[in-house]
Amino acid sequence: MNTTTDKRPELRDLSPARVQDLVLALGEKPYRARQVLQWLYQHGATDFAQMTSLSKGFREKLAQAARLANLEPALVETSSDGTRKLLFKLADGHAVESVLIPEEEHSTLCVSSQVGCRMGCAFCRTATLGFKRNLRPHEIMGQVLAARRLADADRPLTNIVFMGMGEPLDNLEAVNLALGHLLGSHGLAMSQRKVTVSTSGVVAGLPALAAASPAALAVSLNAPTDELRDRLMPVNRRWSLAALKQALLAYPLKPTRRITFEYVLLGGVNDQPEHAAALVRWLQGLRAKVNLIAFNPHEGSEFARPSDQAVEAFQGLLIERHVTALVRQSRGQDISAACGQLAGKEAGGAHVTLP
Ligand code: SF4
Repeated sequence: MNTTTDKRPELRDLSPARVQDLVLALGEKPYRARQVLQWLYQHGATDFAQMTSLSKGFREKLAQAARLANLEPALVETSSDGTRKLLFKLADGHAVESVLIPEEEHSTLCVSSQVGCRMGCAFCRTATLGFKRNLRPHEIMGQVLAARRLADADRPLTNIVFMGMGEPLDNLEAVNLALGHLLGSHGLAMSQRKVTVSTSGVVAGLPALAAASPAALAVSLNAPTDELRDRLMPVNRRWSLAALKQALLAYPLKPTRRITFEYVLLGGVNDQPEHAAALVRWLQGLRAKVNLIAFNPHEGSEFARPSDQAVEAFQGLLIERHVTALVRQSRGQDISAACGQLAGKEAGGAHVTLP
């Protein structure tokens, strides 16, 4: 059927309540909706024919009323450290990337939320693509389900970070729905601590994110003064560091939770002792931990990698002032798949590193 005239909804674009409405409208009992949801998320069905606990008649009715898209990576590149970059071709020909990162006993997936990005961060390869379109919830879930199938059996996919292409809070409706599927008991029932949404500082989206989801929050900060942040991240011209801090102070964090701040160190730009001191001052009052990431230059980039000494000194200054600061290594550098810099051939990427 031609998708441009096809009005059937994608099942993974629907909330559980709307799946129930659909099932009831097809003349089925409510428990059938629970079965459909199990097939969609626990089993990750890629085709209606796999839903074998449903009668053939119901499957046919369901297939007439709704669609079930499936994403398979068109390309998988594996780094020497085991990190895999997954390239997905979408139905309209656009492409997005995810990065599947193996850890000791689990895997983490860095997902994309948009094709391209409109935020224009100066150090980001995705920004050079401009903005193409928002991803829909089923396209976000498609990345997750494909990665779950690919993850090693002894390193199951347990952690998701929204740090791929795009600004999640610029596509909040779809991201919130996908978060519902990731965290909800009808869906993948993942731990709230293990699903992280990273924003460049879209202050207007924070209350709606907090209201919709208890997922962990990360902020891609990268500069401790408005002057510098205005230059590196145009979002700061709309919402200054003061506005961002005010919104974060009001963010309803559970008592044991902290906000992760990602700080990409750009050689000679934001990696000096005065920047560390200003960062410490700005963080005062926030329950924070900082991930420091040495910039990994991509072709055409105006920025350089900081020296190892500068990275170490920056971290030391934060720790001295009692700020938790970790130096994160970019993963999958040999395939340009470091989460936060998906500098691929067809696409490019985004925020930063693991929370
Ligand atoms: S760093 Fe994130 S928000 Fe900034 S341009 Fe890249 S994808 Fe967009």
